[in-house]
Amino acid sequence: MPIKLVTTVADLHTESARLLASRRGTSQGLVPTMGALHQGHAALARTAVEQNDVVVATIFVNPLQFGDATDLDRYPRTLDADLALLEGQGVDLAFAPSVDEVYPGGTPLVRITSGVLGEKWEGASRPGHFDGALTVVAKLLHYGIPGAGLPASGVAEAGLPAYRAYFGQKDAQQLALVRRMVADLNFPVEIVAVPTVRAVDGLALSSRNRFLSGEEREAALVLFRALRLLEERAKAREPLDLESAQAMVESQPLVGLDYFDVVDPATLEPLAENCRETPFRGEALALIAAKVGPVRLIDNVPLSS
Ligand code: AMP
Repeated sequence: MPIKLVTTVADLHTESARLLASRRGTSQGLVPTMGALHQGHAALARTAVEQNDVVVATIFVNPLQFGDATDLDRYPRTLDADLALLEGQGVDLAFAPSVDEVYPGGTPLVRITSGVLGEKWEGASRPGHFDGALTVVAKLLHYGIPGAGLPASGVAEAGLPAYRAYFGQKDAQQLALVRRMVADLNFPVEIVAVPTVRAVDGLALSSRNRFLSGEEREAALVLFRALRLLEERAKAREPLDLESAQAMVESQPLVGLDYFDVVDPATLEPLAENCRETPFRGEALALIAAKVGPVRLIDNVPLSS
């Protein structure tokens, strides 16, 4: 079925309700994105389509989460290609609102605060980023609640549809924060995490990769190599020896390492020293961030043994 583009909340509600009713659907999925879509986003969309009767993808570059106006201005915008990619995955509706539609009163007075979890790692170098991101995710999750455009009698007859929203493991801190927001504030939605999609050489797909030169891209591969080293050591129940993996990244002159650590997957608190030095057991996340040329790259792998 061709995808339908909607730009207002009212049209989103009308069209999603129409689709749910005509399909006698019992579930709706939401895939929030900022556009400039690639195969990572396609995996989110595909998973949502497999699991739900109606799927909405949102495309919105949220000014509230950009500290730097030039970063916001140069964020790639590729709507036609995005629609084609989403249609290829079977997404029903693309919701691409204007800034005024999302923030009709200008910058919102009341916002979500991300607490200590939003201040560390990415939050440390991007102050306010996660407050802005969570505020828009809260709004998008509300827009996507299924049945909002159905007459009350229709909802009562069919019961409340299931509601799921899809986020990439790639942005591990965002995912952990969205899970906390949904749990702490009782949002009526199930959060589904989708594993990171990588290029054949291992680089995690990102809309920002297009700003890397060939040489920088080659250098950036050290991030995944270092993460994979930890993954292999964890699987083999060896000591993680984070320091040697850090040294490997630092030996690459084009890469400016910001952080590289092994953390608890929910709280993102660093694991105790002895978890790194004794044979690894349990579940953790290895997080890395680095500046390569003009681009800030983040990546992570789950560790388990
Ligand atoms: P963005 O458009 O960058 O805000 O990302 C929208 C969603 O796609 C977020 O949930 C991201 O975590 C997810 N995403 C981005 N890149 C990837 C990737 N390489 N693999 C899986 N999910 C991704």
